[in-house]
Amino acid sequence: MKEHIYIVGPCAAESEEQIMTVAREIGKIEEVRGKNEEVRGKNEEVRGKNGVPGGTIFRAGIWKPRTSPDTFHGIGEQGLRWLQRVQDELGIDTATEVSNAEQVRAAAKAHIAYIWIGARTSANPMAVEEIAGAVVGGKNEEVRGKNEEVRGKNEEVRGKNGVPGGTFKGIGIKNPVNNDVALWIGNIERLERTGLPVVAIHRGCNHHPCWEMAYQLRQQRPTLPLILDPSHMSGNRQLVAALYQTGCQLGYDGFMIEVHPHPEQALSDAKQQITPEELANTIHERPNTKHETRNTDLLWLRAMMDEQDDAIWAMIDKRMQISKQIGDWKKSHGVDIVQPTRYQDILRRRLEWAQAHHISAEAVQQIMDAIHTESVKKQS
Ligand code: PEP
Ligand code: MN
Repeated sequence: MKEHIYIVGPCAAESEEQIMTVAREIGKIEEVRGKNEEVRGKNEEVRGKNGVPGGTIFRAGIWKPRTSPDTFHGIGEQGLRWLQRVQDELGIDTATEVSNAEQVRAAAKAHIAYIWIGARTSANPMAVEEIAGAVVGGKNEEVRGKNEEVRGKNEEVRGKNGVPGGTFKGIGIKNPVNNDVALWIGNIERLERTGLPVVAIHRGCNHHPCWEMAYQLRQQRPTLPLILDPSHMSGNRQLVAALYQTGCQLGYDGFMIEVHPHPEQALSDAKQQITPEELANTIHERPNTKHETRNTDLLWLRAMMDEQDDAIWAMIDKRMQISKQIGDWKKSHGVDIVQPTRYQDILRRRLEWAQAHHISAEAVQQIMDAIHTESVKKQS
């Protein structure tokens, strides 16, 4: 069975106690711990191939890029010390999000094992360039110093990890929030030039999976490790387990899942975090993924189709709400509900459109008639 990488932990580091509590709980999860030891210890081949170790990485955001200026923006550099404690006392590698060069340098100085670039930063190629520049340590005396020292003396370690000493074991890059696969790939290339192992993290856009973006990435870069982040993809803890199962079936290489000791009290992303116990149950209920690999493409295409159906129905629902508003306006202005010329106009334009697309005129007419009939009912 394929070994997964698990990047798990709270959205944000909030207190030393919260970090240590959740890291200890995660460390106790059999599946995760088992995999850690097994994959790290025995599976050199997988590790070498991916360039990243399987098993568990503990995540926590220290610097949080947020939508509103009035929300929690992260605990800042003091949180790095808490992550160091997780690494030193519990032996679990840690990862944090970076948005600029200064944060890269602070994380390197604290010997944080992994960093990742978030979805907002990933939409800005200049920021990704800046981060990549800081990773190679061009301007960073301290990291460069360590680099040389470790590189010079410890060839063996360097060869094994596949990374330059003194910096990180690997770097993750989330998809940009704006559903742009070309930019995601461009950012991956920017990071690959640092020489670090790179993993792509698929977190969707505005709570839509955007499966097609990940499907295209997988087709273009089949050997690049691809991680699914069901927490940010859904924004809803009730959906995390089902998305995890889908991710297993689609052949994802790992998962980033937000875990908090008391999710409802979390200072950020309270709706999507799950408890360590729920994480254990989620991972435990792993689906049978022994379907023939030739079926994987079909599963991807179905996931993409289901997403389009969700979008179509959400749009029809929205259209009916607008229809209702139009009905209310007509009533208050004494205008007739049905205006045949308006509908003839809409239909004519749609039939012209159909000629240039993949839908027959007959289907367009049937679908438009059904939508119009329902609209009229909404207005009456
Ligand atoms: C996060 O992982 O906590 C985060 C902020 O994610 P994203 O960049 O995907 O929004
Ligand atoms: Mn989050």
